[in-house]
Amino acid sequence: MRWENLTHDAAAETAAADGGTGPGGAPPALFGTAAVVTRTFDTPEFQGITFHEVRARSLVNRVPGASRMAFDWTVNPYRGCSHACVYCFARKTHDYLDLDTGRGFDSQIVVKVNAPELLRRELAGRRWRGEHIAMGTNVDCYQRAEGRYRLMPGILAALRDFANPYSILTKGTLILRDLPLLKQSAEVTDVGVAVSVGFLDEELWRTVEPGTPAPRRRLDVVRTLAEHGIGCGVLMAPVLPFLSDSPEQLRATVRAVARAGATSVTPLVLHLRPGAREWFMTWLERHHPRLVRRYRTMYAGGSYAPKWYQRQVTRQVHEYATELGIGPSAPGTARRIGPAEEPGAGPDAPESTQLTLL
Ligand code: SF4
Repeated sequence: MRWENLTHDAAAETAAADGGTGPGGAPPALFGTAAVVTRTFDTPEFQGITFHEVRARSLVNRVPGASRMAFDWTVNPYRGCSHACVYCFARKTHDYLDLDTGRGFDSQIVVKVNAPELLRRELAGRRWRGEHIAMGTNVDCYQRAEGRYRLMPGILAALRDFANPYSILTKGTLILRDLPLLKQSAEVTDVGVAVSVGFLDEELWRTVEPGTPAPRRRLDVVRTLAEHGIGCGVLMAPVLPFLSDSPEQLRATVRAVARAGATSVTPLVLHLRPGAREWFMTWLERHHPRLVRRYRTMYAGGSYAPKWYQRQVTRQVHEYATELGIGPSAPGTARRIGPAEEPGAGPDAPESTQLTLL
């Protein structure tokens, strides 16, 4: 599976579907000036963040080259992500909007305010065949903006009403707000949820995923979902070379994932594609300067760590997961959920994705 095609091309398609080429400058370039309402909010949680509200022209996107993907259709109500993970591959997609891929990706958030009504209309369309829809494939649909805009309840309600199967990948604890809708959906269709937790180290978390809920709070989400009958997998991503990859760290993470009641664990080693690579290396120079040379060596061949390293991490996680009794994943859960928000597999990284389910 070639996740890189999904991420970049899906973003391009989304952008094209939203349409309208505005002048360069303040509003995102792909949304005409008239279509954009720009807002800021005074509350501390939104300090420094600018929201660009747009009325999208379409919402359900077909994944280019879908036959090679784990899913064919995606819905992404936001662009940009205030979770601000330094390594986020989706940074590059802000280029399509003429927005900065560094700090701009974290703070310039495009909001498709008509997403719920648009989805309902598209699901009712004569050409729609009720196929699986994946969410969280570009940016996190339960990022902080969702607390204010509340787009997901309308989206989940539409999917429930049409009994349309779907999956969600997130780092956001806000998903628990929509637990009743998830349960209602699960009564009528296939629902998959996966939470992303790459490591437990809180010091590392504070600097590399500064806008996200703490890893253990994310595991609480897994636990709560499991208690309510919603099976939840964990995408153990990214595993950061020399920072979160020691056998002790991997084992501790897998143990915590197992204790949370996850249905599966899927390890993925950090990848660094253009857009994310520059931002991550700047962060590394500031926080872990002694590792810079080792990273340059490890990623000298491109965006992916060497296969031998990926295999080693995957094998270790697999062993720990077997020992701790995780998996296999339930049908329609992690199998359907790609590592879209996290480092995915490209030409050099087939090992990781093939061992997604334990
Ligand atoms: S990795 Fe996911 S949660 Fe983090 S910034 Fe990117 S989209 Fe948001």
